[in-house]
This record gives sequence, C-alpha cells and structure tokens, in this order.
Amino acid sequence: MSSPSAASACLGRSGGNRRMGTPRKERQMRRELGLTLPTKRERERAERARDEASAAPQPCLNCETPVLPPRKPWALYCSDYCGGMAYLIRYRRRTESDGRAKRQDVKDTLQIREALLFTGHTHSAADESRLPLTLAERQELFAAKGRSCLVCGEPATDIDHVDAQAGNAIDNLQPLCAGCHRKKTLSSHRPPLSTVPQFKGPAETEIEYRDRVRAQPPMKACDDDVTWSTGWRGLVVTRRAQSIAEGRTSS
Ligand SMILES: [Zn+2]
Ligand SMILES: [Zn+2]
Repeated sequence: MSSPSAASACLGRSGGNRRMGTPRKERQMRRELGLTLPTKRERERAERARDEASAAPQPCLNCETPVLPPRKPWALYCSDYCGGMAYLIRYRRRTESDGRAKRQDVKDTLQIREALLFTGHTHSAADESRLPLTLAERQELFAAKGRSCLVCGEPATDIDHVDAQAGNAIDNLQPLCAGCHRKKTLSSHRPPLSTVPQFKGPAETEIEYRDRVRAQPPMKACDDDVTWSTGWRGLVVTRRAQSIAEGRTSS
C-alpha cells in the first residue's frame, strides 16, 4: 500500500487534490496512511456547496439530460456517447483553427469518427486500448508475411488488424500500403444505426454537430476547444463538492 503507484491511485480516486493546493504536509500524511478522506479545502468547498445544493442530478454537458447512476454523480456526461460527441466537436474546432484539419491523417480521423457519431456509436475503445506493436513484432510480421501490400502489391508501410476488434496476434495482422489501409479503415467504420438513448438519428445529429462546430462563441462549455483543457477539472470539482454535500457519495 505504500508504493508510489498505490498512493497516487488513492489520491487520484479522491479527485483533484493536487490541483487544489493541499498543503504538502497534509498530502504526505494522507499518502502514508493511504487515506482518501477529503482535505480541509474540500470540506470547506463541500460546506459552501451544501448551502446551494439541490437534490436534482446534474445535467449532462452535452445533451442536458440528468446524469444518472451508474455514472458518478459528478460525471460531466450522461454517457460515453455524449462525452465522445463533445470530444469530437472540440477536436474538429481545434484542428480547423490551427490548420491541421487539412492534413490527410487528420481528415481520415475526422471522417471515421464522424461516421461513427452520425450512426450513434462512440469511437471504439478497442482502437484506443490496443497496445502499439513493438519494433520486434513489426519485423516478425514482415518476415512472416512479406513486405508487399496484400491488396495491391505495392511496398507495405502499414500493419493492419484484420479484425479491428481483435488484438495483436500475428494471425490478425497483415501488411498493407498506406492507401489500401486507409480505404479499408474508412469502409469498415460504417456500423448499423445504434439504439443508444442519447442518439437523435443521423440527420439531426449531423446538423447539431455542424452547428456546434461552427458556433462563435461556442454554444456549450464542453464545445470550447480553447478553455476546456484547463476548465473541465473545475467543473468536476464543483460537481463533486455538491454531491458530497448532498451525501450522495461517501468516497
Ligand atoms: Zn448526455
Ligand atoms: Zn495497397
């Protein structure tokens, strides 16, 4: 329990203490004891929030419906779908304003993620959680299957996952050129319409998305690609203090 990783996990669970300027001694003591009790500052915040607290759950920043269990009461979004939509809106705004949206790799990323969003899906967690291939694994694959694209025969630059949901086993990997890899990736991201309750249908979702990407100033706090990276923590802290004050959590 006294290893650095266990200690930081405890602090992490208790939420944003580091950023709240906890005095060093208190923080050290809490780390040694493995405690996740609120700091003095958090308790004061909670007391303040108690005065303003209402019993109603907080609204999702993206769709404004209540955030309900099993989501944490201080979660900013009601669902992964809503978090993904807000993320993509910020990503599009940011890459359009800094010019990256003109790059082919960024265009491809946007095209895939927008296709998923407009059919009611969140970006596949499998794509994010899969470990990148090591150099040795890449060499092993090229040695076993050759250095030519299996589709067009041009020199292979990419390693493709045959089944995008499966892992890095060599049976699931094949060499492709960049062009064929891109075509395959784009064509494999056209899933059927989802039934997640937050999904409003393709047309309405796309209209809302494009409006929110264009809006100046941003229509919602979660759309603001400029302030979000520093602002979201404050939103979580405020929601958390409020939910502690209401006794909806004891952690
Ligand atoms: Zn929502
Ligand atoms: Zn090819």
